[in-house]
Amino acid sequence: MLKNPSKETPKQYIEVALNCPLRQVFDYTLPAAPCAIKPGTRVSVPFGKRTKVIGIVLNTKNSTTLDPQKVKPVEEILDQKPIIYGDIFALCTWASQYYQHPIGEVLATALPKLLRAGHSLEITGKNYYQLTKEAKQLNLHLLSRKPAQAKAIELLLSQENSLFSKPELKAFNITSSTLNNLVNAGYIRFNKKLDLPSIDSSSTAQKKLSLNSEQQLAANTVALNFFQSYLLDGITGSGKTEVYFQIIDRVIENNRQCLVLIPEISLTPQTISRFQKRFHVPIAALHSGLSDKERLNAWLFAKNNYAKIIIGTRSAIFTPFENLGLIIVDEEHDSSFKQQEGFRYHARDLAILRAKNNNIPVVLGSATVSIESYHNSQNSNKYKLIHLTQRAGNAKPPTFKLIDLNEHRTENCLSQIAIKQIEKHLTKQEQVLIFINRRGYSPILFCQSCRWQARCPRCDCNLVWHKQRNQLACHHCGKQISTPPHCPECSSTSLAPLGQGTQRLAEYLETLFPLYPLIRIDRDSVKNKNQLEQQLAIIHQNKPCLLIGTQMLAKGHHFPNVTLVVILDIDQGLIHPDFRALEKTAQLIMQVAGRAGRAEKAGTVLLQTLQPQHYLFKTLITQHYQSFLALLSSERETCLLPPFGYLALFRAEAKNPSDAFNAIKQIKDILEQQANQYTTVYDAIPASMQRKAGFFRVQLLTQSPARLALQKLLADCLPLLGKLPALKNIRWSVDVDPVDVG
Ligand code: ADP
Ligand code: ZN
Ligand code: ZN
Repeated sequence: MLKNPSKETPKQYIEVALNCPLRQVFDYTLPAAPCAIKPGTRVSVPFGKRTKVIGIVLNTKNSTTLDPQKVKPVEEILDQKPIIYGDIFALCTWASQYYQHPIGEVLATALPKLLRAGHSLEITGKNYYQLTKEAKQLNLHLLSRKPAQAKAIELLLSQENSLFSKPELKAFNITSSTLNNLVNAGYIRFNKKLDLPSIDSSSTAQKKLSLNSEQQLAANTVALNFFQSYLLDGITGSGKTEVYFQIIDRVIENNRQCLVLIPEISLTPQTISRFQKRFHVPIAALHSGLSDKERLNAWLFAKNNYAKIIIGTRSAIFTPFENLGLIIVDEEHDSSFKQQEGFRYHARDLAILRAKNNNIPVVLGSATVSIESYHNSQNSNKYKLIHLTQRAGNAKPPTFKLIDLNEHRTENCLSQIAIKQIEKHLTKQEQVLIFINRRGYSPILFCQSCRWQARCPRCDCNLVWHKQRNQLACHHCGKQISTPPHCPECSSTSLAPLGQGTQRLAEYLETLFPLYPLIRIDRDSVKNKNQLEQQLAIIHQNKPCLLIGTQMLAKGHHFPNVTLVVILDIDQGLIHPDFRALEKTAQLIMQVAGRAGRAEKAGTVLLQTLQPQHYLFKTLITQHYQSFLALLSSERETCLLPPFGYLALFRAEAKNPSDAFNAIKQIKDILEQQANQYTTVYDAIPASMQRKAGFFRVQLLTQSPARLALQKLLADCLPLLGKLPALKNIRWSVDVDPVDVG
């Protein structure tokens, strides 16, 4: 007799991506009952010895290449509908391939932590109790035999607000049993008040500014409803934000949502409040200062179209939207858009891809555009270039002056010319900003007898002395030790600081200008949002004061009364081994300089340097930032460096140098075996800081003038590398389009 083949339903298999560094996906079976499950759905599965590991379904299929007996069933299907779908799913799979990163970790990046842990897609909220209509209309005499209930209702009726939390009810001496009785009798209702994004409808609301002609042209150039990348190249203070605002206005009128990406450093609270004051629509923020719940909520607001504007740092590029109409990447040159560890994606580059997939415009804005974007706007016309060459309102660009330190002696890093200028501006009741990109008291603590210097035991670098807390700190690995009372080498007690950090400079300036308030802004003095807001509030009183700060103070701020900016100790950027160092230094100078003279009063920038002849200064100061970019471009073109060539950087780290070198050698062998005529594999070299956090670091660069050729090489090699025993127990990585190769 024939067996009835329909009796045995063929097994259905799914491929699941797990949040782990393995470059593979895992097969599981679905329950026997027919069940349609789509890619992007969360499941929990057994994995190794663990159970309830959460993964994302990538595929369904009817067969497996594994022994079917060994394929385990899924434990649970967590979502009825895919949680990662549409353009986000496409973005993740593309990014996983392009950046050569395991899909499980890529998908995990796209989800808030609570969703990775299996939380439901429910917007969280607070529980509230509220009197019902029945209670409000009740004749309380009818409750005379239930005095506790009557008293409770009376009390609640007399309150101004109508929503009560449980602790508030407790405070009114309403017991749990009375509350239960009131709920059962229908006098009190239990409600959940969702933490929906709030709308600022306060009187401080800001009106649209009337745009100057350049701004108007810029705003008009951006067409909605189809894909195009725009590069908004506008000098500092040219009013880029108002241009963004007026484009956003149109997108919101069309009932679509906007995604605004901002750099990590750019102080999110101010940016968000600027948006909130201008738009009376729900706005949600996604940045590192959020709790897990807040992050999940913001994600859901975007997905459900509750929030019309989402402002976020790098990872916000993976936020799902119901109806996305525009992406803005502000300060597009900023390297914080590139993730530097794990899944090394570039949010600006993904923004272009996402806009393309959604057929919507993307606007990249900066006063110091990156060479890559500049190239895309010049040579290939990939980006439409929009210029803002004037400062908005009546402000004028600042005047630069170089101070040649070969001719002018300094005391505590400051030349006499700089000190005189500072005094002059303070006397005129203006504010002065002094930029030094090093926090701490001094970068070196050394012994005056034997020249010993305090070094980090785990890195190849000096420890920075933090005088106030009397500690030595490593700014690379975080190691902190208390300052030794005497030299560990020769026991001398004459330990002395060498060089300047923000703290030492502040101490010195306090003695020079005791009458003026001094505000120091760096990561040590400003540890949280509130501290920063307090400091900024003082600056915004516009009284004369001295501001000393690192990068934290350099970007994005609008301080109308700052008329003098002094830039110290910038020369290190001229000799740094990274090929991007000059570009970054120029950007930093222009951004810091951009804080001067942003309103009615003109601004001056003083730059102290030992290399006044350097072409960076000459071009920046006598011509434009763009002329400097053009020069850098031709250098890069000669060497086939980005954007004229494409790079991937392999890194290996091990406690033992020979393990790191051995690993890189094996990587190199495989790369060389697979290399094609368009790809070059360079020699392995130690990283510019060879040892960091106890690990010896070696790196190897591969390059190609053709993106596809490099991609092919990587795609051919990575599966092979995954199998190399020498790579099993060490840390190694590949960084596609690295921004930091030093
Ligand atoms: P950017 O980001 O380009 O450096 P901002 O957007 O911060 O510049 O603008 C600088 C200042 O100019 C802000 O105070 C802004 O309110 C003001 N501003 C912008 N556009 C106009 C305009 N059309 N008229 C008057 N003031 C403007
Ligand atoms: Zn000594
Ligand atoms: Zn260290």
